Amino acid sequence: MYTVEHWINGAATPAGSTRTAPVFNPATGQEQARVLLAETSDVDIAVAAAAKAFEAWGESSLSQRVKVMFAFRELLVAHEDELARIISSEHGKVIDDARGEIVRGREVVEYACGIADALKGSFSDQVSRDVDVHNFRQPLGVVAGITPFNFPIMVPLWMHPIAIATGNTFVLKPSERDPSASRLVAELYAKAGLPDGVFNVVNGDKVAVDAILDHPDIAAVSFVGSTPIARYVHERGTASGKRVQALGGAKNHAVVLPDADIEYAANHLTAAAFGSAGQRCMAISVGVAVGTAADKLVKTLERKANEVKVGPGDDATNDMGPVVTEAARERVIKAVASGADQGATVVVDGRGLTVDGHENGFFVGPSLLDNVTTEMDAYREEIFGPVLAIVRVDTIDEAIAVINANPYGNGTAVFTSSGEAARKFQREVKVGMIGVNVPIPVPMSYYSFGGWKDSLIGDSPIHGPEGVRFYTRAKVVTTRWPHTEAAFNFPTSN
Ligand code: NAD
Repeated sequence: MYTVEHWINGAATPAGSTRTAPVFNPATGQEQARVLLAETSDVDIAVAAAAKAFEAWGESSLSQRVKVMFAFRELLVAHEDELARIISSEHGKVIDDARGEIVRGREVVEYACGIADALKGSFSDQVSRDVDVHNFRQPLGVVAGITPFNFPIMVPLWMHPIAIATGNTFVLKPSERDPSASRLVAELYAKAGLPDGVFNVVNGDKVAVDAILDHPDIAAVSFVGSTPIARYVHERGTASGKRVQALGGAKNHAVVLPDADIEYAANHLTAAAFGSAGQRCMAISVGVAVGTAADKLVKTLERKANEVKVGPGDDATNDMGPVVTEAARERVIKAVASGADQGATVVVDGRGLTVDGHENGFFVGPSLLDNVTTEMDAYREEIFGPVLAIVRVDTIDEAIAVINANPYGNGTAVFTSSGEAARKFQREVKVGMIGVNVPIPVPMSYYSFGGWKDSLIGDSPIHGPEGVRFYTRAKVVTTRWPHTEAAFNFPTSN
């Protein structure tokens, strides 16, 4: 048993926290640590440290900031094994999957290494006689991030490298379910030469979140999590005058057209539905089978779902680990039961799965539900577990209509061999991130990540160019240098 402390002003500290929450190992069901839960006064201490650090960091040169980012990137590479083990032990995902999120998060650091280019302003010459205009962007000050359990390193990395590289100081409130990766990240930043107070971690629950949302010295809040909390964070944060970007939940559909390679589509749907035990905001939770694709697709998915090897994340032969908590396991079991009660066909039933030697782990096997309709709870709710629901339709237009009627709009995919169908799909579907024969179309770090509708509250996607815009504000300068001012003229021969 260990205690996960906060990281404030360059050092681990309990500050004034006395409340704690358990951190489980989902593969064994055992409590392995306690995480401190911050009080409002602890958040105040972290924000004061960040505000003090901003005085120097906000004035630091681009070269200095980029140098730290390059060093931090190298340390993330060097510590990949250790980080992956920490993530797997607290989240439950298999080690290779944990490595995947480290790599995708590191790509944001690589983008931040090139921040000098992203921060270039523009210049307009002679907009009027002797008058020029240029613009540039400056950091906001202290900014904060509040993150979910399902990507304990990647989602925070969507935020802090860009915030810090653009000259802000940062307070992170990671998920209390798997807080330890953020502690190590803080140590790596310190080793990379980041001055004390620029990156701080405050662990906690709603008390810490509310303290962040209300704090007058925090200029902006980035949030990723479920839609109800995203809405709450957006409302409360903007009410206190902050910029807020708030990414919410999802129900991602993959459409399989009759002209698709069904074996290929089924392979990808299986991995995208059951990888990380379905606990990804870009997981495929609905397969929309069009026309004659349906029977073959369901048969192939059944075979593949039965082949998924479930077990502890630290065994490299496993495809899928446990879900994060006992409550999550019960929620998945209830969702499959409600699908069956409301008329879905349970083709593969993961409810009864036990893993030898890990009987107390939070395991649940892959479930495949066929003949699901859009009225069923198993369709309407974000289950956030290894459950794939198949909705059958007759045409691509019907498939698009199903997706567009869903309140979420995070990711979607189409499997087809027709360029024309793919083009129609991407133009008509009301979703932010779209894959063509790609099941989990998470944009690269130099684009921005964000859904539509209830998957993104407010109007700011995360990382990439939108991230730079979010963490900075622009100044536009209009300058006149009259030609009578001889000292400023370019010397000429006459
Ligand atoms: P969550 O909303 O329960 O928690 C997210 C954060 O909010 C955590 O730091 C948590 O401590 C805090 N929080 C929880 N309840 C709160 C409350 N009542 N008041 C104030 N703060 C509160 O989400 P989760 O279960 O950790 O993560 C899973 C959810 O996140 C899913 O809905 C998933 O789709 C979503 N998600 C979305 C994206 C995206 O990019 N859109 C990415 C990852 C996860």
